[in-house]
Amino acid sequence: MGTRIALFTRDLRVHDNPLLVGADQVVPLFVLDPKLNGISANRLRFLHQSLADLRQNLRDRGADLVIREGDPVAETARLAAEVDASSVMVAGDVSAYAQRREGRLRDERLPVEIAPGVTVLPPGAVRPGGGGASYRVFTPYFKSWERAAWRASVVSPRTIAMPSGIAPGRLPSLPAGESPDAIPGGETEGRRRLRAWQGQISRYDDDHDDMAADNTSRLSAYLRFGCLSPLEVALAAKADDSPGAQAFLRQLCWRDFYYQVTAAFPTLSTEPMRAKADTEWRYDEDGLQHWRDGMTGVPIVDAGMRQLRAEGWMHNRARLITASFLTKHLGIDWRPGVQWFFRWLLDGDVPNNSGNWQWTAGTGNDTRPFRKFNPIRQAQRFDAEGVYVRRYVPELKDIDGAAVHQPWRLPDSVRRGLDYPGPLESHRDEAVWLRD
Ligand code: FAD
Repeated sequence: MGTRIALFTRDLRVHDNPLLVGADQVVPLFVLDPKLNGISANRLRFLHQSLADLRQNLRDRGADLVIREGDPVAETARLAAEVDASSVMVAGDVSAYAQRREGRLRDERLPVEIAPGVTVLPPGAVRPGGGGASYRVFTPYFKSWERAAWRASVVSPRTIAMPSGIAPGRLPSLPAGESPDAIPGGETEGRRRLRAWQGQISRYDDDHDDMAADNTSRLSAYLRFGCLSPLEVALAAKADDSPGAQAFLRQLCWRDFYYQVTAAFPTLSTEPMRAKADTEWRYDEDGLQHWRDGMTGVPIVDAGMRQLRAEGWMHNRARLITASFLTKHLGIDWRPGVQWFFRWLLDGDVPNNSGNWQWTAGTGNDTRPFRKFNPIRQAQRFDAEGVYVRRYVPELKDIDGAAVHQPWRLPDSVRRGLDYPGPLESHRDEAVWLRD
């Protein structure tokens, strides 16, 4: 079985990680690619926190995390030669970057093994009837996904044998993020949150859309970096037959769904899936900037956009409302929206960010592509008392109850005292919903 280089990428964990079992000796490696310095500051910080935690978890098992800086393929090949490795194992992934890395590793004539673990089911494991490359509609995918045979999860090894004499390398000092209230990275923190979430999961079907209750798992960033195994999270939900756990399992399946869409449609972040739906976007730099700044004058939209900056995360209902507002109300192209979310989101990744944006903009896999969320009705339904808005828009903190959703309806004397913008110029004529 020999010595294996375990090349960590999107699987920064020691639980359910196939990289760590089945070889005589393992050399855990993470390569800091200078290209990573261009990624979002929030995700870079989360990544570094996760690496520090992974290193500790490996040390607790008698091994270490070897850190190298440079081109991941060149550094892997160099270390493989140094330790006379018999193979390199890396998690299978769908991004263009990961695909290139895998191809280049093979070009180095290294025996490459691809491990499962970034999703519950690898893309392509279930296919639609009629032989299509991927499912384009969610519900049939979910049915096949749920019924499919999932692999067994891998038990975390108590000890890991690693060759001696390898310089571990230093982790650079922790980079600053941009969001003051971002949650910290790492498998230890992810597992703590998963355990806590299991105590709340039964309420998920009733509460997950209640924006003020904040009763979703907030596990997305740990799944994004593989601090948590999606399989382990799914197995835990499957074993719990409460309606909440079943609703959560269905939601988790969207993540796998978009990975298999991306595998079949790799240009998801730049090209519309439904080309015809992608024609007449308005150029409106002013509207776009107000949207980014959370200053559109529509409180529920502004609350979501400000949560994004403060926490590097936004409630799913708010993501739907803000993305729909940009594309369907302001008529602005979804691509700048994708980029803005990508800059801030701790969980930001190509399949889920671009897939959901395309769904919302009507260019993707929504079976009702012309649906248009009315932000006021959404606010009245999912933030009935206005608690979420007041949490993120302090200018409106003294407006009681649901009145906070329509400040333009407040008496003139109150409205004039608010340091909060009226609806956007570009949106005023179109804003029929302001009047009903
Ligand atoms: P929970 O409600 O607790 O759900 C559990 C898990 O299921 C999540 O952690 C996530 O992994 C998965 N999940 C839930 N909803 C979705 C969904 N609609 N699509 C895919 N997976 C889902 N999610 C990302 O992980 N990364 C992104 O970059 C991302 N961008 C989005 C952009 C837009 C415009 C929209 C509408 C949604 C986006 N989502 C994205 C999906 C969803 O909003 C987040 O996964 C969810 O809010 C994360 O919070 P949570 O962990 O508390 O979710």
